[in-house]
Amino acid sequence: SNSNIAFIGLGQMGSRMVNNLVKHGQKPRVYDVVPAALASVNGAIPCSSAEEAVDGANVIFTMLPTGQVVKNTVLGEKGILRKISKNALLLDSSTIGPQIAREVFEAAKAKNIRFLDTPVSGGVLGAEAGTLCFMVGGLEKDCKEVEPILLHMGARVFYCGESGAGQITKLCNNLIFGVTMVGTAEAMNLGIKLGLDSKVLTDVINVSTGRSFTSELYHPVPGTRENAPATKNYDGGFSVELIAKDLGLASEAALSINAPVFLASASHQLFRTMNTYGLGKKDFSVIYKFLEGVVNK
Ligand code: NAD
Repeated sequence: SNSNIAFIGLGQMGSRMVNNLVKHGQKPRVYDVVPAALASVNGAIPCSSAEEAVDGANVIFTMLPTGQVVKNTVLGEKGILRKISKNALLLDSSTIGPQIAREVFEAAKAKNIRFLDTPVSGGVLGAEAGTLCFMVGGLEKDCKEVEPILLHMGARVFYCGESGAGQITKLCNNLIFGVTMVGTAEAMNLGIKLGLDSKVLTDVINVSTGRSFTSELYHPVPGTRENAPATKNYDGGFSVELIAKDLGLASEAALSINAPVFLASASHQLFRTMNTYGLGKKDFSVIYKFLEGVVNK
């Protein structure tokens, strides 16, 4: 339990993951470009740069918005790869797709640094509760070694295969999550506009074949689920920008093997359109309001 952990990126997910590391007795060195985010975590050691955070660490996490940011942070001019100790384990839990994950893996390997792609599912609720599901790509022995630390933040760890396999797994999951959100919001908007009671419709769906994580826990209609972002003015949660990114990554991955992804593409375009309407920072369940035609930014 005496790992020297560094954690970079303290947003919706990262801040909560760090809180759980602290709860399990770790004292991670942390960094975020936004000072307010840096101040939000108690019991960790705030650092003034990513380089400072990774100094002396043997397990380093990144939880950043996009692949480009991960690339800059790890491989860039001031990238942490130059500062990380040999044989240390670098783990990226962001959703960035398999291509950049493999690029980072190879660059790390060339410097005798071990890299795993370790994207997560479970959202902010899972991050808060420490019940995330980790999907791991890279060397299996590295996965085994770091599993106890991952279990400080998550309930399940799956070794998915070689470098990039964690990312591919995550994209497949989020394809379903994105498409299901669109479908659930469409159905709820249809039913409510045709005069149905939202609660009764939801209760029926949740004991019928239309049920999903979305209808059960992440319901897009405000007031239906106490802890869902929809009930909190669509703030917090998983942003439109990020699901659009993930569906784009899924489409890109599909293109590389010519697999058809009709619904991923349609959903991708929908969320991108919502982005242009200024909804990029809202939780993606705001698709319900968008379809309803009543949009509160
Ligand atoms: P977020 O935007 O809330 O957090 C990202 C954090 O990174 C921010 O605090 C930002 O200030 C920081 N950051 C940006 N550039 C930086 C840099 N150069 N150096 C240091 N910090 C920097 O995003 P999030 O919701 O926490 O998601 C993070 C990643 O996890 C994304 O790839 C997302 O797709 C994925 N993810 C999100 C969820 C979710 O429900 N929110 C669930 C699973 C996976």
